[in-house]
Amino acid sequence: MIAHVRFRELKTRMGLAVFIAVTAWFLTRGMWPAIWLGLVATTQFVDWLAFRRLRLNPSVEPSRLYKTVLCAVASINVVIYSGIAVILWINGGDAGRLFALIQVAGGLLHVSLHMHHVRPLLFSAVIPHSLYFLGIPIADGIVAGRWEDFLIAIGGVLFMTHLVVAVRQSSMTTKALQEANAEAQAQRRKAEVASAAKSDFLAVVSHEIRTPMNAVISAANLLRRTRLDREQREHVSMLLDAGDMLVGLLNDVLDFSKIEAGKMQLESSEMDLRDKLASLGRLWQPKAEANGVRLAIQIAPNVPDCVRTDPLRFQQMLFNLLSNAVKFTEDGSITVSVDWREADRRLIVAVADTGCGIAPDRLGNIFDSFEQADAGTTRKYGGTGLGLAISRRLAEIMGGRLTAESVVGEGSTFTLDLPVEPVQRTENAPKRAAADENMLAGRVILAADDHAVNRHILSLLLEPHGCQLVLVENGAEAVEAAMSQPFDAILMDMQMPVMDGLTATARIRAEGMNRKTPLIALTANAMDVHRAAWDAEGVHAFLTKPIDPVLLAATLAEACAEAVEVREAAVA
Ligand code: ADP
Repeated sequence: MIAHVRFRELKTRMGLAVFIAVTAWFLTRGMWPAIWLGLVATTQFVDWLAFRRLRLNPSVEPSRLYKTVLCAVASINVVIYSGIAVILWINGGDAGRLFALIQVAGGLLHVSLHMHHVRPLLFSAVIPHSLYFLGIPIADGIVAGRWEDFLIAIGGVLFMTHLVVAVRQSSMTTKALQEANAEAQAQRRKAEVASAAKSDFLAVVSHEIRTPMNAVISAANLLRRTRLDREQREHVSMLLDAGDMLVGLLNDVLDFSKIEAGKMQLESSEMDLRDKLASLGRLWQPKAEANGVRLAIQIAPNVPDCVRTDPLRFQQMLFNLLSNAVKFTEDGSITVSVDWREADRRLIVAVADTGCGIAPDRLGNIFDSFEQADAGTTRKYGGTGLGLAISRRLAEIMGGRLTAESVVGEGSTFTLDLPVEPVQRTENAPKRAAADENMLAGRVILAADDHAVNRHILSLLLEPHGCQLVLVENGAEAVEAAMSQPFDAILMDMQMPVMDGLTATARIRAEGMNRKTPLIALTANAMDVHRAAWDAEGVHAFLTKPIDPVLLAATLAEACAEAVEVREAAVA
């Protein structure tokens, strides 16, 4: 560090030397200021050379010999630099003497402030300065017999005493600052390690919770299909509602921790805006109407049909806003209005409701994690206070903003302002094969999952569709099965003993008769990194547990339809 400071100050020292030389020339006339300037330039160059090695290798501890050389170079530098004071004192008259004193005092100040943390260097520079500062008036006092010169030397001692106090104070402050910085850095490293551990912990916990949740929700779904009396049906509904809530909470906590760890990865693909809004409307209309609330979607004519964005995250933000609007509105209406600002290509989506509204002093906090507008909210409406925190952070990661306005008793308006790229709909984009659940009849499907409960659930969910399941317990068995018979589709779990799902998928994709068979990753790992790993293997779809029976059947039907197309293309 000292080497860098010396290098940085080099230009200042040379600039001042030129100024001193010109002043000295005015005061004394003659060649010697030019000679002095040449000597200064030479010693400054030697200084630059000597400190260069330290500057280039700051982490290497200098040897004792190198340190001695550096101190000697600093001393010689000062002897030459401040040597001009002697000539000015002798030849410059009263002005020269005053100038000499001020120049040496300035030099003392300069070295004390920028070298105080490296003691040997400090002394190497301060001693010659002090000898000039006190020695010149004392020597002159003795030679000329002038008592006033001794007074000047006493003034010099006073100045140096003040300097010592100031330098000690500055040294203590710098040391405290360095210690605080080191402590802050150590804490930051600790926090980074803790945050990475938290992410891993969440991935593991999420996996561990999803696996049994999968069994609970799937079993409840199967139970709902059996003949039940009214009371039993209500109990099953409660089970399913609680299961859905738990999965929602799990997803929120996972999303939030991903955002916190800076690991939220965005996708970018085409999205049919009107389609997306219509499907959100279809989802929330029945719930709003059940409360006697009207839900309307108004799209301005200039809003582009198709935009490039992250469709999943866009849907997640609007889903949150609509879910809150429906939750907190007991009568009146909810209006989703969509506008397009051509100037900066921004989509403005406002979700306005005529619900209970939010008090002004709480409005600023509702975007903080685990914050709800009032203490009774959880009791009355449930929720965790994570939805808006996640939505706002998502909007920001996507380059946009999410803001809220509200009047208690009149309603709230949440506005999402998002930069998106309008695109032409790609008409000839490969359309997914039309899926029909009836397609599953007679299909042969390979399913790999190490949990016996999950395998049992898969057969209970899929066999009623008339498909034939080949169930295996790990990746190695899946590869073996895939090498011996053709399948219409493959369902693959991720974490399995003997061979994991990703390795098995890579093997199946590499050779054999199921190289092109559509494969659906069916996993409890919902982190983005896992999704990316599966995407890299070119899977047909990625379904997270707990299994949604309808989605599973639809995705599988889609995969089977694709398998037929692939086979037909191969024949043609
Ligand atoms: P949650 O809905 O799970 O409690 P959110 O982060 O989505 O969490 O919302 C935080 C809080 O903001 C809610 O608990 C509620 O008090 C308030 N809030 C959000 N949306 C609305 C709305 N449309 N009307 C009234 N209050 C709202």
